[in-house]
Amino acid sequence: YPPERIRNFSIIAHVDHGKSTLADRLLELTGTIKRGHGQPQYLDKLQVERERGITVKAQTATMFHKHKFGFPDASDIQDPPNFLLNLIDTPGHVDFSYEVSRSLAACQGALLVVDAAQGVQAQTVANFYLAFECNLSIIPVINKIDQPTADPDRVKTQLKSLFDLDPNDALLTSAKTGQGLEQILPAVIERLPSPPGKCDSPLRMLLLDSYYDEYKGVICHVAVVDGALRKGDKIASVATGQNYEVLDVGIMHPELTPTGVLFTGQVGYVVSGMRTTKEARVGDTLYHSKSVVVPLPGFKPAKHMVFSGLYPADGSDFDALNHAIERLTCNDASVSAAKESSTALGMGFRCGFLGLLHMDVFHQRLEQEYGARIISTIPTVPYIFEYSDGSKIQVQNPASLASNPGKRVTACWEPSVIATIIIPSEYVGPVITLCSERRGEQLEYSFIDNQRVLMKYRLPLREIIVDFYNELKSITSGYATFDYEDSEYQKSDLVKLDILLNAQPVDAMATIVHNLKAQRIGRELVEKLKKFIDRQMFEITIQAAIGSKIIARESISAMRKNVLAKCYGGDVTRKKKLLEKQKEGKKRMKRVGSVDIPQEAFHELLKVS
Ligand code: GDP
Ligand code: MG
Repeated sequence: YPPERIRNFSIIAHVDHGKSTLADRLLELTGTIKRGHGQPQYLDKLQVERERGITVKAQTATMFHKHKFGFPDASDIQDPPNFLLNLIDTPGHVDFSYEVSRSLAACQGALLVVDAAQGVQAQTVANFYLAFECNLSIIPVINKIDQPTADPDRVKTQLKSLFDLDPNDALLTSAKTGQGLEQILPAVIERLPSPPGKCDSPLRMLLLDSYYDEYKGVICHVAVVDGALRKGDKIASVATGQNYEVLDVGIMHPELTPTGVLFTGQVGYVVSGMRTTKEARVGDTLYHSKSVVVPLPGFKPAKHMVFSGLYPADGSDFDALNHAIERLTCNDASVSAAKESSTALGMGFRCGFLGLLHMDVFHQRLEQEYGARIISTIPTVPYIFEYSDGSKIQVQNPASLASNPGKRVTACWEPSVIATIIIPSEYVGPVITLCSERRGEQLEYSFIDNQRVLMKYRLPLREIIVDFYNELKSITSGYATFDYEDSEYQKSDLVKLDILLNAQPVDAMATIVHNLKAQRIGRELVEKLKKFIDRQMFEITIQAAIGSKIIARESISAMRKNVLAKCYGGDVTRKKKLLEKQKEGKKRMKRVGSVDIPQEAFHELLKVS
């Protein structure tokens, strides 16, 4: 297939607007997967993706399609397909916009899918701009027109007013009933440009993604920009200077299908004897070892916006966790992990994530795919502190902000974001109140049609990672949608809040908070802990402190009787049940000093802001 017979495109949408379903339909239409394969959302391979109905990792599939060039002719039924189409499915959630921009780098166009009833939502706006910045041609697709509340004309108005897209260009579809789907592939072929590379130039390919396969080793997803790649070729990496031999090369159809060669404009996979995915730098340029090439523009590296400590839960060991984290970070370069130790929790890791959902998904994968059992500490954003001696540090772990008498903090900064919120106009009041409680500053306020308002706010990142989205959803009866992009650091008035158990500070529970909120947060943290820590054989005091000043205090009185004492000599099965229950409970406990703390206590702390 010469480049003019290739199209590389992506599907972008707000979450739940139907992009995975639409991807399935296109794979079926082209015979890439069988109809009714019994496994919806074919490209969502991870267990977490199926469970949560979200797409986390972008997946690629190659399809072959016979295009009729406007002359449908029954006699060409025997002819082979004349177009090669690469579909790159992208995640819709804000946390994974890094994956989105990565996938878009290999595309020339995108289907912008909008739910006909819901209309344009916050992630539609964010994803549109990501695609627009990559200079992609955009085909608007108004999906779910089968719904009784569908209002395609209203969506057309929004597409025009927000993105200046011609309403006549919009395709109306239902991925559910199949209505209108036949227009999509012809539109992709006729409206999207073919890949711009040169077949006779030396090989240049972009490394899009990589993962580790037990049998084959590291598998890289690549886009061949110029030239061709064949099995047996010697290739080199611009980023690492390493040389490799191509052992296997092919397409995702949608399973790995060896072809022995990839030509200009194609997207496929390469196996080249890389031992770990650390050698496979996403955004790297690969080329033939003996040639001289100008590197392709890479991607911005993933920025870690949320950090938290991960420790083995009691009854689970560090080596197992270490192994699991190593394996998983091998497949998810967007997570960083560094060993750290805590007085309270022992040896563990400080991990950096793109956002809170990303963190949740990582925890879930650690447990589901690797059987690791973990305690995670309160997530924090990376703050910057400046000291009286002029030194500046980035604080990823609040506990590391030890009070050093020789050094005084002279200034601090916290990361901020620009948030886009779209709501029906009747919810404007409560949303403005929420944003100002979260220390937001309004930047924009506009109507996108006669019922919906788009607002932009600058907000401290810290204020949105903690339960902002849930709160926003609940005050708008679920109607608000929200997305954000990173913005600059802003000067702030921050203090470290310590939690003390029986007068001992628990390093793993320290947080950094805004001075004006410290009092209230301290109080709430202490109350939460009191609720979640079980009574023990002795009295426990829980305190919150800023420096040496105690700002809140609670105590849990000692337990009077042993649980088992009650049924001594009594019912054996009941005793067994109690012991079982205690063991169950223990799984997620961590003994800190002499106090057993359940994981839920750590978890509940996250929700205080
Ligand atoms: P994604 O989050 O954008 O990938 O959305 P999904 O493809 O997972 O779809 C979200 C939900 O919408 C699923 O329950 C789909 O079955 C449903 N859905 C997708 N397309 C249509 C459609 O055209 N009509 C209707 N009524 N439902 C649809
Ligand atoms: Mg999906």
